[in-house]
Amino acid sequence: MKEGLDILYALQQKDDQLKEIEIIIKEIPQQIKKLETERDARSEMIEKAKKKLQNNIEDRKKLERDIAAIKDKISKYKEQMKKVTTNKEYQGFSNEIKFEETNINTVEEKIIEKMVEADEIMGIIRETESEFNKIAAEFNQQIKDLHSHLDYHKDKLSEETKNKKELRTQVAANLLKAYDNLFVKKAGKVVSLVQTDFCGVCNIKIRPQLLSELVISNDLLICESCGRILFKPMAGEDEE
Ligand SMILES: [Zn+2]
Repeated sequence: MKEGLDILYALQQKDDQLKEIEIIIKEIPQQIKKLETERDARSEMIEKAKKKLQNNIEDRKKLERDIAAIKDKISKYKEQMKKVTTNKEYQGFSNEIKFEETNINTVEEKIIEKMVEADEIMGIIRETESEFNKIAAEFNQQIKDLHSHLDYHKDKLSEETKNKKELRTQVAANLLKAYDNLFVKKAGKVVSLVQTDFCGVCNIKIRPQLLSELVISNDLLICESCGRILFKPMAGEDEE
Protein backbone atom coordinates (compact mmCIF):
# COMPACT_ATOMS: atom_id res chain seq x y z
CA MET A 1 0.00 0.00 0.00
CA LYS A 2 2.72 2.49 0.91
CA GLU A 3 4.42 1.91 -2.38
CA GLY A 4 1.09 2.16 -4.15
CA LEU A 5 0.51 5.52 -2.49
CA ASP A 6 3.83 6.76 -3.82
CA ILE A 7 2.59 6.24 -7.33
CA LEU A 8 -0.83 7.63 -6.47
CA TYR A 9 0.83 10.76 -5.13
CA ALA A 10 2.89 10.98 -8.31
CA LEU A 11 -0.40 10.78 -10.23
CA GLN A 12 -1.80 13.59 -8.09
CA GLN A 13 1.25 15.71 -8.87
CA LYS A 14 0.85 14.95 -12.56
CA ASP A 15 -2.80 16.02 -12.41
CA ASP A 16 -1.77 19.19 -10.57
CA GLN A 17 0.76 19.92 -13.28
CA LEU A 18 -1.79 19.32 -16.03
CA LYS A 19 -4.21 21.67 -14.30
CA GLU A 20 -1.55 24.39 -14.20
CA ILE A 21 -0.79 23.91 -17.88
CA GLU A 22 -4.49 24.09 -18.69
CA ILE A 23 -4.79 27.36 -16.78
CA ILE A 24 -1.86 28.80 -18.73
CA ILE A 25 -3.41 27.65 -22.01
CA LYS A 26 -6.64 29.35 -21.03
CA GLU A 27 -4.92 32.57 -19.94
CA ILE A 28 -2.64 33.15 -22.93
CA PRO A 29 -5.43 33.89 -25.45
CA GLN A 30 -6.81 36.44 -22.98
CA GLN A 31 -3.42 38.13 -22.78
CA ILE A 32 -3.21 38.16 -26.57
CA LYS A 33 -6.69 39.67 -26.80
CA LYS A 34 -5.74 42.36 -24.27
CA LEU A 35 -2.64 43.38 -26.27
CA GLU A 36 -4.59 43.37 -29.53
CA THR A 37 -7.32 45.53 -28.01
CA GLU A 38 -4.80 48.03 -26.65
CA ARG A 39 -2.98 48.16 -29.97
CA ASP A 40 -6.21 48.56 -31.96
CA ALA A 41 -7.50 51.26 -29.60
CA ARG A 42 -4.60 53.44 -30.78
CA SER A 43 -5.34 52.86 -34.42
CA GLU A 44 -9.00 53.65 -33.70
CA MET A 45 -7.84 56.92 -32.14
CA ILE A 46 -6.00 57.74 -35.37
CA GLU A 47 -9.07 56.87 -37.44
CA LYS A 48 -11.24 59.07 -35.25
CA ALA A 49 -8.84 62.02 -35.57
CA LYS A 50 -8.71 61.56 -39.35
CA LYS A 51 -12.48 61.61 -39.49
CA LYS A 52 -12.48 64.81 -37.44
CA LEU A 53 -9.98 66.37 -39.83
CA GLN A 54 -12.15 65.38 -42.78
CA ASN A 55 -15.15 67.09 -41.15
CA ASN A 56 -13.02 70.14 -40.47
CA ILE A 57 -12.01 70.36 -44.15
CA GLU A 58 -15.65 70.04 -45.21
CA ASP A 59 -16.68 72.77 -42.76
CA ARG A 60 -14.04 75.07 -44.19
CA LYS A 61 -15.20 74.40 -47.74
CA LYS A 62 -18.73 75.26 -46.72
CA LEU A 63 -17.56 78.51 -45.13
CA GLU A 64 -15.64 79.37 -48.29
CA ARG A 65 -18.79 78.76 -50.32
CA ASP A 66 -20.62 81.07 -47.92
CA ILE A 67 -18.06 83.80 -48.61
CA ALA A 68 -18.39 83.28 -52.35
CA ALA A 69 -22.17 83.61 -52.04
CA ILE A 70 -21.83 86.83 -50.04
CA LYS A 71 -19.35 88.26 -52.58
CA ASP A 72 -21.81 87.37 -55.30
CA LYS A 73 -24.51 89.26 -53.44
CA ILE A 74 -22.18 92.27 -53.06
CA SER A 75 -21.39 92.39 -56.78
CA LYS A 76 -25.09 92.22 -57.55
CA TYR A 77 -25.66 95.16 -55.22
CA LYS A 78 -22.86 97.04 -56.95
CA GLU A 79 -24.49 96.38 -60.34
CA GLN A 80 -27.80 97.65 -59.02
CA MET A 81 -26.11 100.67 -57.50
CA LYS A 82 -25.06 101.81 -60.96
CA LYS A 83 -28.70 102.10 -61.96
CA VAL A 84 -30.00 103.99 -58.93
CA THR A 85 -31.35 107.49 -59.36
CA THR A 86 -31.77 108.74 -55.83
CA ASN A 87 -29.26 109.33 -53.12
CA LYS A 88 -31.46 107.43 -50.71
CA GLU A 89 -31.37 104.30 -52.90
CA TYR A 90 -27.62 104.67 -53.24
CA GLN A 91 -27.20 104.92 -49.51
CA GLY A 92 -29.43 101.87 -49.08
CA PHE A 93 -27.21 99.68 -51.30
CA SER A 94 -24.11 101.12 -49.72
CA ASN A 95 -25.36 100.05 -46.29
CA GLU A 96 -26.24 96.56 -47.55
CA ILE A 97 -22.75 96.18 -48.97
CA LYS A 98 -21.14 97.27 -45.70
CA PHE A 99 -23.34 94.81 -43.82
CA GLU A 100 -22.37 91.96 -46.13
CA GLU A 101 -18.70 92.87 -45.87
CA THR A 102 -18.98 92.54 -42.09
CA ASN A 103 -20.49 89.12 -42.67
CA ILE A 104 -17.46 88.16 -44.76
CA ASN A 105 -15.20 89.12 -41.84
CA THR A 106 -17.21 86.96 -39.46
CA VAL A 107 -17.00 83.94 -41.77
CA GLU A 108 -13.29 84.51 -42.35
CA GLU A 109 -12.73 84.46 -38.60
CA LYS A 110 -14.54 81.13 -38.46
CA ILE A 111 -12.29 79.78 -41.21
CA ILE A 112 -9.21 80.82 -39.22
CA GLU A 113 -10.61 79.03 -36.16
CA LYS A 114 -11.13 75.92 -38.27
CA MET A 115 -7.55 76.16 -39.59
CA VAL A 116 -6.17 76.35 -36.05
CA GLU A 117 -8.29 73.34 -35.13
CA ALA A 118 -7.00 71.45 -38.20
CA ASP A 119 -3.41 72.09 -37.07
CA GLU A 120 -4.22 70.67 -33.65
CA ILE A 121 -5.88 67.59 -35.14
CA MET A 122 -2.93 66.99 -37.47
CA GLY A 123 -0.61 67.23 -34.45
CA ILE A 124 -2.68 64.60 -32.64
CA ILE A 125 -2.62 62.34 -35.72
CA ARG A 126 1.17 62.64 -36.04
CA GLU A 127 1.70 61.95 -32.32
CA THR A 128 -0.71 59.02 -32.19
CA GLU A 129 0.72 57.54 -35.38
CA SER A 130 4.26 57.69 -34.11
CA GLU A 131 3.16 56.21 -30.79
CA PHE A 132 1.17 53.54 -32.61
CA ASN A 133 4.16 52.62 -34.80
CA LYS A 134 6.34 52.27 -31.72
CA ILE A 135 3.92 50.15 -29.70
CA ALA A 136 2.54 48.18 -32.63
CA ALA A 137 5.96 46.66 -33.32
CA GLU A 138 6.49 45.94 -29.64
CA PHE A 139 2.97 44.56 -29.11
CA ASN A 140 3.12 42.46 -32.26
CA GLN A 141 6.34 40.90 -31.01
CA GLN A 142 4.72 40.18 -27.64
CA ILE A 143 1.68 38.67 -29.35
CA LYS A 144 3.96 36.50 -31.49
CA ASP A 145 5.84 35.35 -28.38
CA LEU A 146 2.56 34.53 -26.65
CA HIS A 147 1.50 32.42 -29.61
CA SER A 148 4.67 30.35 -29.43
CA HIS A 149 4.26 30.18 -25.67
CA LEU A 150 0.78 28.79 -26.26
CA ASP A 151 2.06 26.22 -28.77
CA TYR A 152 4.73 25.14 -26.29
CA HIS A 153 2.18 24.58 -23.53
CA LYS A 154 -0.19 22.74 -25.84
CA ASP A 155 2.65 20.36 -26.75
CA LYS A 156 3.53 20.09 -23.09
CA LEU A 157 -0.09 19.26 -22.24
CA SER A 158 -0.29 16.43 -24.74
CA GLU A 159 3.11 15.08 -23.65
CA GLU A 160 2.19 15.18 -19.95
CA THR A 161 -1.23 13.68 -20.68
CA LYS A 162 0.61 10.70 -22.19
CA ASN A 163 2.82 10.50 -19.12
CA LYS A 164 -0.25 10.58 -16.94
CA LYS A 165 -1.81 7.66 -18.83
CA GLU A 166 1.39 5.70 -18.37
CA LEU A 167 1.41 6.55 -14.67
CA ARG A 168 -2.20 5.42 -14.27
CA THR A 169 -1.29 1.96 -15.56
CA GLN A 170 1.08 1.63 -12.60
CA VAL A 171 -1.56 2.40 -9.96
CA ALA A 172 -3.41 -0.54 -8.36
CA ALA A 173 -6.96 -0.82 -9.72
CA ASN A 174 -8.71 -0.28 -6.36
CA LEU A 175 -6.62 2.82 -5.62
CA LEU A 176 -7.26 4.18 -9.06
CA LYS A 177 -10.98 3.71 -8.62
CA ALA A 178 -10.93 5.53 -5.28
CA TYR A 179 -8.79 8.28 -6.81
CA ASP A 180 -11.12 8.82 -9.74
CA ASN A 181 -14.20 8.91 -7.50
CA LEU A 182 -12.66 11.45 -5.17
CA PHE A 183 -11.15 13.47 -8.03
CA VAL A 184 -14.55 14.88 -9.00
CA LYS A 185 -15.80 15.35 -5.44
CA LYS A 186 -12.61 16.98 -4.16
CA ALA A 187 -12.00 19.38 -7.03
CA GLY A 188 -9.00 17.48 -8.37
CA LYS A 189 -7.20 17.28 -5.02
CA VAL A 190 -7.34 13.66 -3.84
CA VAL A 191 -4.01 12.88 -2.21
CA SER A 192 -2.90 14.99 0.71
CA LEU A 193 0.79 15.05 1.46
CA VAL A 194 1.43 14.95 5.20
CA GLN A 195 4.81 16.49 5.91
CA THR A 196 4.50 17.23 9.62
CA ASP A 197 1.24 16.49 11.45
CA PHE A 198 -1.13 18.53 9.34
CA CYS A 199 -3.26 17.58 6.37
CA GLY A 200 -1.43 19.03 3.37
CA VAL A 201 -4.66 20.21 1.74
CA CYS A 202 -7.03 21.40 4.48
CA ASN A 203 -4.26 22.13 7.03
CA ILE A 204 -6.18 20.58 9.93
CA LYS A 205 -4.05 18.92 12.59
CA ILE A 206 -4.20 15.14 12.35
CA ARG A 207 -5.02 13.24 15.54
CA PRO A 208 -1.88 11.62 17.00
CA GLN A 209 -3.45 8.17 16.79
CA LEU A 210 -4.29 8.57 13.11
CA LEU A 211 -0.86 10.00 12.53
CA SER A 212 0.84 6.94 14.01
CA GLU A 213 -1.48 4.66 12.06
CA LEU A 214 -0.38 6.54 8.99
CA VAL A 215 3.19 5.46 9.64
CA ILE A 216 2.60 1.83 10.62
CA SER A 217 -0.70 0.81 9.01
CA ASN A 218 -1.06 -0.44 5.50
CA ASP A 219 -4.68 0.74 5.31
CA LEU A 220 -5.85 3.56 3.16
CA LEU A 221 -6.36 6.44 5.59
CA ILE A 222 -8.31 9.58 4.90
CA CYS A 223 -8.26 13.02 6.48
CA GLU A 224 -11.05 13.20 9.05
CA SER A 225 -11.63 16.81 8.13
CA CYS A 226 -11.53 16.98 4.32
CA GLY A 227 -11.85 13.32 3.36
CA ARG A 228 -8.74 13.17 1.22
CA ILE A 229 -6.33 10.25 1.05
CA LEU A 230 -3.45 10.91 3.41
CA PHE A 231 0.05 10.15 2.21
CA LYS A 232 3.04 10.34 4.49
CA PRO A 233 6.30 9.45 2.79
CA MET A 234 8.46 7.06 4.72
CA ALA A 235 11.39 8.57 6.60
CA GLY A 236 14.35 9.34 4.38
CA GLU A 237 12.15 9.27 1.30
CA ASP A 238 12.28 12.12 -1.16
CA GLU A 239 9.27 14.21 -0.39
CA GLU A 240 9.40 16.30 -3.51
ZN1 LIG B 1 -7.65 17.35 5.13
